[in-house]
Amino acid sequence: MPPPDPGFLLRVDLARPKRTPTLAQELALDHAMAARSTCPKCSRRYDFCLPLRTVGSCDPCAQGYEPTPGTYVLSPMPVAHRLAA
Ligand SMILES: [Zn+2]
Repeated sequence: MPPPDPGFLLRVDLARPKRTPTLAQELALDHAMAARSTCPKCSRRYDFCLPLRTVGSCDPCAQGYEPTPGTYVLSPMPVAHRLAA
């Protein structure tokens, strides 16, 4: 038998709208994500986080091959803020 729907615990009349982050908060998040997804050796910024603590670079730098086009952007470190907010 499946567990009961937990929705009955929520009081809709007490619910508040989701908090919207400020532009400064979104900028800080983007900088943090840029630091995690940008390779320090080749300055490519990927669409995913890199194993910087263990490998220290992107996989193409560590293994010596060209990364798949479309999985990264080549941009200088101060990444332009392109978040819609
Ligand atoms: Zn790299």
